[in-house]
Amino acid sequence: MQFSELGLRIALQDAVAELGYKEATPIQAQAIPLLLDGRDVIGSAQTGTGKTAAFALPILSRLGPHGPGPRCLVLEPTRELAVQTHENFLKLSKYTRLHCGLVYGGVGYGAQRDAFKQGVDIITATPGRLLDHLQEGAVKLDLVQFLILDEADRMLDMGFLPDVKRIVMKCGKERQTALFSATIPPAIETLIQWAMKDPVTVEIGARRSVAETVKHVVYPVAELQKQDLLLALLDKIHWESVIVFCRTKRSADDVLYSLKRARHKAAVIHSDRSQKERQQALEGFREGYYEVLVATDIAARGLDIADVSHVINYNVPEHPEDYVHRIGRTGRAHASGDAFTLFTASDAQDLQSIERFISKKIERVKLEGFPYQYTVLFDEAKLGPVAGKSRGARIGKGYFFGPAKRR
Ligand code: ADP
Ligand code: MG
Repeated sequence: MQFSELGLRIALQDAVAELGYKEATPIQAQAIPLLLDGRDVIGSAQTGTGKTAAFALPILSRLGPHGPGPRCLVLEPTRELAVQTHENFLKLSKYTRLHCGLVYGGVGYGAQRDAFKQGVDIITATPGRLLDHLQEGAVKLDLVQFLILDEADRMLDMGFLPDVKRIVMKCGKERQTALFSATIPPAIETLIQWAMKDPVTVEIGARRSVAETVKHVVYPVAELQKQDLLLALLDKIHWESVIVFCRTKRSADDVLYSLKRARHKAAVIHSDRSQKERQQALEGFREGYYEVLVATDIAARGLDIADVSHVINYNVPEHPEDYVHRIGRTGRAHASGDAFTLFTASDAQDLQSIERFISKKIERVKLEGFPYQYTVLFDEAKLGPVAGKSRGARIGKGYFFGPAKRR
């Protein structure tokens, strides 16, 4: 589907052409006409499928000239995503006269207040800071006609639901609402019923699939050898840029330290780093200065990082959806990527939920020449009954260096 066939204003078609987009992605081809038509839309498609332009283009097309506002509000779960979406709006609105504003925490209030005073048509915001401004009376949302809840699943995961509700209540009643998410868990269904009017659902691809272009495998390893295996993998495989996902801030910092000791150019993003440090890490990685980006899942969700050659899960993700999200960072835009997950015995249960979620067994592989210590995972058949047990019955780490007894 060509952008010229979608009914967008010429100013937007020109901006799209300048960005080099040739054809609309499936979510864009389906959501844009509906949003232009005034419908509420629930859009679900994997990370990296162009959801931002799917809502930004029709809204920019319908907003007309600059006017009193704000008339469009986009909520994002993290600062990085807010920045990214705002930048998209700036590029796409280049040939319009619309003003775009960005609101997020961790920076001063002054510039954001000034922007409200000067008048913005579109605000991209994280919930917390926007609520601060609303409480102060620095901005009002009663003229908002377009409300976008982006990355809604993550917004809920991060506990933003009460904030989101408070913000939605302050928006104009006669509005169009769109919700975008890679997955639609049940908690979102309530938000949908409450905030949206007769929405149409546009769902592209199975919510539970990993892109077909991605080859993903699991590396069983003893807990104590994880860092060594990570370094060995980086030595052996041919890669250009890698994101390493960690479950906790602590393990992210540890991994960063060992990467630096091995003379890799690496940076980390997690929520204990200042906004400036996170932005700098991200930019450095995008520009190729850092070759490895270590990130906790929350910090990295949905970030548009192009051309990652490899994703390495240093920990098996706890939530199966996160596995799909993380892997979604490679294999984007048809370049085939590889994703590795380091798998220790204590992850048996989590890996099994992932495999159930994606309805597929992930291939186990070993790195040739690596001085592996034994783990029970090397004869996984023995794990059989354990994997099916409840969380409480999970096997502890030490067990694998002792005799293999059943529980
Ligand atoms: P999502 O929100 O679905 O994760 P984004 O909106 O962040 O995805 O887009 C991912 C990347 O794809 C961005 O770099 C964006 O510029 C690019 N992109 C979006 N639409 C198109 C298109 N129609 N053709 C080519 N690239 C596109
Ligand atoms: Mg997005």
